Amino acid sequence: MRDCEEDTMDGKKKTTEIQKKTVIQKRAGKKPAGGSERQMCPAAEKCGGCAYQGLPYEIQLEKKQRYMESLLKNICPVRPIIGMDNPYNYRNKVHAVFGRLYDGTILSGTYEKNSHRIVPIESCMIEDACADAIIRDIRGLLKSFKIKFYNEDSGIGLFRHVLIRRGFATGQVLVVLVTASPVFPSKNNFVKALLKLHPEITSIVLNINDKNTSMILGEREIVLYGKGYIEDVLCGRAFRISPKSFYQVNPVQTEVLYRKAIELAGLTGKERVIDAYCGIGTIGIIMSRYAGEVIGVELNPDAVRDAKANAKRNEIHNIRFFQNDAGKFMLSMAEQGKKADIVFMDSPRTGSDEAFLSSVVKLNPKRIVYISCGPETLARDLKYLVKRGYRAEEAWPVDLFPWTSHVEVVCLMSKVEK
Ligand code: SAH
Repeated sequence: MRDCEEDTMDGKKKTTEIQKKTVIQKRAGKKPAGGSERQMCPAAEKCGGCAYQGLPYEIQLEKKQRYMESLLKNICPVRPIIGMDNPYNYRNKVHAVFGRLYDGTILSGTYEKNSHRIVPIESCMIEDACADAIIRDIRGLLKSFKIKFYNEDSGIGLFRHVLIRRGFATGQVLVVLVTASPVFPSKNNFVKALLKLHPEITSIVLNINDKNTSMILGEREIVLYGKGYIEDVLCGRAFRISPKSFYQVNPVQTEVLYRKAIELAGLTGKERVIDAYCGIGTIGIIMSRYAGEVIGVELNPDAVRDAKANAKRNEIHNIRFFQNDAGKFMLSMAEQGKKADIVFMDSPRTGSDEAFLSSVVKLNPKRIVYISCGPETLARDLKYLVKRGYRAEEAWPVDLFPWTSHVEVVCLMSKVEK
């Protein structure tokens, strides 16, 4: 899950109560999604992915709103959460593990918490339905091709996982087959058979993960079909996304989140902006037209390669990307006497470390726009910045993860004028 997710197997003006409820309901759509009936997914208990199973959507939003208000009490005013009109099948990235029962039945699904027991999943209310269909058919192919499954406990066997990414705007589909070895018997025929069943697939990649780790993807990749990545469109900009690059899992709400973040930044077209933890450059590229200059910094080399290609593809000339630790990069900027007017930061769930936050303070931007999928670390980091000359102006929760307890939040901080 940053689903704020890393690709691991283990599974962000004071309104009165009544006003708030109205806004929440409006944003959640006309029809009460999820209804009042206690709809349960058959895998809910064992899968554990959807902590809010059975709760009407409006109640989920209220719970998230209250949670954020209690966390940020006396730190930052919390605006009404922005919910989804249709909170189903929103995930553009789907991961499945595979295994075989003693009677030969092939299972696909997710691991039960803290175990290697597979919880079989046929279809999921939050995952992309096309991806679920591809996974079901891969199960059949694995059987007919007599592919051996990897055993997480013994470390023996071949086939480990499937990761599917679909560009909701482009329809492009990337299938990543994760195996413990590059020797995949009849791989060309396997690819042909999969494409015959699902001609919508635009790329297939073999990823080799021979490590006993909770990370889904290994280092090595062999492109079996297509370009080896998908493209998607967010806020009118095109992005390419490689298997190992981070990309928000709910593109519909990501547009809402990014637009809010850019609005909060109050750009006039002149500012020098840092996009820290920039991933494939989404936020920076989308905001570049409202800023003077954008500098993106990101640790993952695949993501930086995507970001540079994305800037070129969108013909953006006022943006540069650097592969570096965001904190080290900003510290060195401050030491060289370089300035930034605004810092956007979109850290992983663990939040930012003190080295990063102190580098922001040294860089001394007028405003900080903090996007977070870890509200607890956001609260911790805001307290740090408030003690060092910033005011937390407003926090907007955006529901990127319906049916789960996760919250995404965008928060504006301003330098207190002395
Ligand atoms: N802003 C992007 C990505 C956010 S996810 C988007 O909205 O799509 C967080 C990103 O931080 C990931 O791409 C991860 O690779 C990167 N990251 C993690 N630790 C980092 C560090 N110390 N310095 C720079 N980037 C880091």
